[in-house]
Amino acid sequence: MKRILALLLLLYCAPRARAADGRAEEGPSIRVAIARNSPSLKLKTSSRVYAQDVKTGQKYLLLERSAYEIKASAGGISVAGQQLSSPIKLLSSDGQERIRLGGNLYKGDILIRASGADKLDIIEYLPLEDYLYGVLGVEMSPDWPLEALKAQAVASRTYALKNINPARDYDVTDGVEMQVYNGTARINSRIIDAVNSTRGEVLKYKGKLVTAFFHACCGGHTASVKSAWGEDVIKPLYGVPDPFCSRASHYRWELFVPAGDLLKFIQKQGSTALKIKAVRVYRKDRSGRAVSLRFTTDRGVKDAPVTELRKSVGNYEFRSTLITRISPVRGGYEFAGRGWGHGVGMCQEGAKAMAEKGRTYKKILHQYYPGASITDYD
Ligand SMILES: [Zn+2]
Repeated sequence: MKRILALLLLLYCAPRARAADGRAEEGPSIRVAIARNSPSLKLKTSSRVYAQDVKTGQKYLLLERSAYEIKASAGGISVAGQQLSSPIKLLSSDGQERIRLGGNLYKGDILIRASGADKLDIIEYLPLEDYLYGVLGVEMSPDWPLEALKAQAVASRTYALKNINPARDYDVTDGVEMQVYNGTARINSRIIDAVNSTRGEVLKYKGKLVTAFFHACCGGHTASVKSAWGEDVIKPLYGVPDPFCSRASHYRWELFVPAGDLLKFIQKQGSTALKIKAVRVYRKDRSGRAVSLRFTTDRGVKDAPVTELRKSVGNYEFRSTLITRISPVRGGYEFAGRGWGHGVGMCQEGAKAMAEKGRTYKKILHQYYPGASITDYD
């Protein structure tokens, strides 16, 4: 592979306007951390790609349809054995080309930076609207009704813009802690239509962008941002009844939790108990979600936040804090509940049901972010 790293002397072809300089040709761009503290990465090119040493400006050609290993080494970055200083940019040769990293396709420019202790951060720079194509394909199914996809496009655009922060090294991460983004592989014509037909539209409340949270299914009532994370609540994130998601497959859940796991959990919470005698919901918020549980034990009662139990059991298995029943069963307790996710903002299953009933994306957004206006960015 060494022969294919050719030095291009500085016959500087002007980089595309969407290069890693913060702004795209049209509309805002966004910086997505697609890996953090990664020891190395395997890059596959589907076309010619330039690796540019940002400090010197020198560009190196990576040939098309080739595989390269990129590693952190000695404070710099090694590309196919060639030592470059940090950071480097990977620039595809025109807008149509793709870079494949770890199985995902990326259309934007990539910045790779040494992040201490022989690790790399990888950040993609791309126009916001291109990023949204990628988000919609994984955060909502590409097969869902168009009006639901349009509502998701506006919510995701607003959420992304709210997180743009030039003072940080990147704007958003690509995992479930923000919005899932795996590059541009799952794009279809409906997604392109949903993003393009709502281009630039965002949710604002009193002139400010709303942090447009969303989740899979609310279970009948969305949650207040205050009870979910203790953040100051504004009207669009206060929580509303949702009559639309009750036929969703994720509307109800049940989960068996072994008594031993519950005991370990309350011991971590400071209890000296050796046996749990009963468990019940102790406090609820306005939406009906459990805030705390009360454990009756051989050493008295212990109250614990349900969000901590959910984290301890697993947020995937323990689908929500909207607990409707806790029953003692052999060897543990059976929890039953409704919904999936934190419950704040738009209920995606409800959005889907509304779209199937013929409601527009604006109606959907007004249902889940009441009081917010749908307006053009800027
Ligand atoms: Zn719902």
